[in-house]
Amino acid sequence: MDVLRVDDQLTDEERMIRDTVRAFTAERVAPHVAGWFEEGTFPARELAPELGKLGLLGMHLEGYGCAGASAVAYGVACRELEAADSGLRSFVSVQGSLAMAAIHKYGSEAQKNEWLPRMAAGEAIGCFGLTEPDRGSDPGDMRTRARRDGSDWILNGAKMWITNGSVADVAVVWARTDEGVRGFLVPAGTPGFTASDIHRKLSLRASVTSELVLDDVRLPADAVLPDVTGLKGPLGCLSEARYGILWGAVGAGRSCYEAAVEYARTREQFGRPIGGFQLTQEKLAWMEVALGQAGLVALHVGRLKDGPGVTPQQVSFGKLANVRAALDVARQARTILGANGITLEYPVLRHMNNLESVLTYEGTQEIHTLVLGQAITGIAAYR
Ligand code: FAD
Repeated sequence: MDVLRVDDQLTDEERMIRDTVRAFTAERVAPHVAGWFEEGTFPARELAPELGKLGLLGMHLEGYGCAGASAVAYGVACRELEAADSGLRSFVSVQGSLAMAAIHKYGSEAQKNEWLPRMAAGEAIGCFGLTEPDRGSDPGDMRTRARRDGSDWILNGAKMWITNGSVADVAVVWARTDEGVRGFLVPAGTPGFTASDIHRKLSLRASVTSELVLDDVRLPADAVLPDVTGLKGPLGCLSEARYGILWGAVGAGRSCYEAAVEYARTREQFGRPIGGFQLTQEKLAWMEVALGQAGLVALHVGRLKDGPGVTPQQVSFGKLANVRAALDVARQARTILGANGITLEYPVLRHMNNLESVLTYEGTQEIHTLVLGQAITGIAAYR
């Protein structure tokens, strides 16, 4: 419904990107995504070149074959991708905002020229390995180690829950060194480096999630990202990806809302459409408000990013507020669909289950709450 008409604030170019991504997902994703979710597959190799052709991979980066779009244009694209499925948006986020952004921000000219044009075109896929089996919210305490051996590096450790892991041509792996945390480019097929998929997920099923194992992986000196040392390296990329999420969540929520509105208009009980009952209207009105607010937050944070700049606290605000709103909308929508709401015939429970991952990754809701808590009180409460 969009009572606030938030999209009226978009420029013509931003609206064009919206419409292009919507048309792409309607044709290439919507007819298949329930099946991918059911089977637990995602056709990354097939979709990557198509996403590349649309300019959606590394879309907000400049040069090296990237589109150099505005932050709002990128956000709108994330919103439309996630309206189809959070797995699709996750693929694009990890490729562009994590793997490509790390190389773009911190890589050498040779690394940028080797990887970015192919990644922008979707000919090469990247992943981003920060989380470990025993270290998630506290990556500063990571166990993966890189030590020097002559001019080479030797990496040992494991990374867990890595989106695109087993389909990636290159993994950006963060490891502790004597100098602090550093990023390494690990090409697929490097001896000692393996990626195996995590199965039995009930969320983000249309997305590849893997464990990476590094067992005495020998890398040349030029595999390290030269321009960053310390946790600020990975955290700088995460801020980019979180920005995409705060838009994406609005898309997932909107998809649930639209399904609920359509159902409420057509489903009849007690001789009238269930949308005629006040309790249903209260739910729908509340969803409209929640999504209108989330859309405004996304646009505001995007305009800050395109203008004076955005702080990590503002991105945390958006991620926390918008994912929570989308999840609440999904849960309310599910009740309106009754028993039908639990099936894959409708997008609602698929989105709801996906949003449980979105709530956790890129900083859990608790961690973003603590970011805001520190901003408000000046007191850090992490440990
Ligand atoms: P933990 O850190 O163990 O947290 C468990 C609980 O404790 C949470 O509720 C958390 O909020 C809470 N908690 C922890 N510390 C505190 C504290 N100080 N105060 C209060 N509560 C606290 N990672 C990558 O590196 N790359 C990826 O591509 C990637 N993709 C992912 C895809 C999926 C589908 C999922 C589910 C995860 C992915 N992740 C990825 C990992 C994700 O970023 C982590 O799961 C997340 O950071 C949380 O870590 P954890 O699961 O180890 O939970």
